[in-house]
Amino acid sequence: SVRVRYAPSPTGLQHIGGVRTALFNYFFAKANGGSFILRIEDTDRERYNEDALKDLYDTLNWLNIPWDEGPGKGDFGPYQQSERYNLYQEYAQKLLDNGKAYYCFCSAERLDAVREEQKKNKSSNQGYDRHCRDIDPAEALARKEAGESCVIRLKVPLEGKTTFHDEVMGDITRKNSDVSPDPVIVKTDGFPTYHLANVIDDHLMEITHIMRAQEWIPSGPLHIILYEAFGWTAPKYCHLPLVMGKDGSKLSKRHGSTSLVDFRNGGYLPEAIINYISLLGWSFDDSREFFTKEDLEKLFSMERIKKAPAVFDYKKLEWFNGQYIRKRSKESLLELLIPILQKDQVVSDPMTAEETAILEGVLPLAQERLKFTTDVSETVRFLFRDIDGYNIDDALPKKIELSQIPAILDAASELLEGFESRTQEENEQAFYNKSQEMGLKMGQIMQPVRVAVTGSKISPPLFESIGLLGVEKAIQRIKALKE
Ligand code: GLU
Repeated sequence: SVRVRYAPSPTGLQHIGGVRTALFNYFFAKANGGSFILRIEDTDRERYNEDALKDLYDTLNWLNIPWDEGPGKGDFGPYQQSERYNLYQEYAQKLLDNGKAYYCFCSAERLDAVREEQKKNKSSNQGYDRHCRDIDPAEALARKEAGESCVIRLKVPLEGKTTFHDEVMGDITRKNSDVSPDPVIVKTDGFPTYHLANVIDDHLMEITHIMRAQEWIPSGPLHIILYEAFGWTAPKYCHLPLVMGKDGSKLSKRHGSTSLVDFRNGGYLPEAIINYISLLGWSFDDSREFFTKEDLEKLFSMERIKKAPAVFDYKKLEWFNGQYIRKRSKESLLELLIPILQKDQVVSDPMTAEETAILEGVLPLAQERLKFTTDVSETVRFLFRDIDGYNIDDALPKKIELSQIPAILDAASELLEGFESRTQEENEQAFYNKSQEMGLKMGQIMQPVRVAVTGSKISPPLFESIGLLGVEKAIQRIKALKE
């Protein structure tokens, strides 16, 4: 049965690309009744970062992506590479024993000198010059046991070529002479490099499909050579298309934030993120856009992964987010919004009965308009708190003189006296008639009134807002602005 893994290195925050890999693996596993495995690739002790690990768990929890096997769970553990040290030693020894790997004693200085020389000669043979490849194994062992510092390198065949098949990209073939010359597989500190640990673990964990970013394609031939060196069969490969910004360059911080923690704190909903990310390089039928997590757990298929790069469009994700805010049930939306309102000190903690009533009243309006949950405080603050200062430029409509404002506000206050005895339509009509009478446009009356009542040029619909706030308070605020 299908066994796939997400194998992040905890060196930085989870970002769009990594999460896309996680989701595709997860959905592929679910859609095929297989297992989704989380493996922590933390052999690079210099770049290891505790916060990155926490961020990984926080992100997967927030998205509600559970793993079938992973740290602390499953029969193929440990799932954290730093705890598999002895295994790697054992398998590296096998490669030494069967002549597929060798000890290398070259110092950093020597390697630097080789590199310099190659640069000077513009040599096409870049990389290690295989200086230690032919040292007699018994002699090498003796030197190592005498305490000489060394690494272990893989013997990449000098001739021939290596092909790996990618489910999306087809066959990818490379001449062995173009593969990195004898890469290090075990470092001086005894820790394996990514290539060795990754291949051993994928084999021992019985991974059936490797789905990872296209950036890893260049490592493909080397991994195949490693599988062959061990006498193992490689899993199937499926490299996922690049994710680019709208300008066609690889998605990066230049395009905007790509860290999941920023989306989490920025008022995005997990279901919007999941829906949008699942469309980065996959489609169901080229037209359907909305997918819940449950849909994807059934519908995801490898056949529909695309070759062409995906474009990450922040605006589109924003749009999805708004859509999913509208789709939330009243209760679950309230659950999200209340802590935000409390944190921003718009409502008290716990909320008073009056606050609860106002919030429930304004919820349908907020749900219709919010793009981000975090916008809620600004959107509804005027209903709960006094307005702490007006921006007179906001209150001033186009083509209106400051001196005309008092008359407009007076007219509005007067109209509002009868507000509660009229229907919403009648109120609109009354304001419209008044504007005509004064030789103004409707908006030229509404704007200063809106700023007076809500504190902002942009607010939920004005008459509904006045209804929620109470006419008396609205009139008071209009008077306050006048002064
Ligand atoms: N640890 C690698 C990473 O951080 C995993 C690559 C792979 O999936 O083979 O992306």
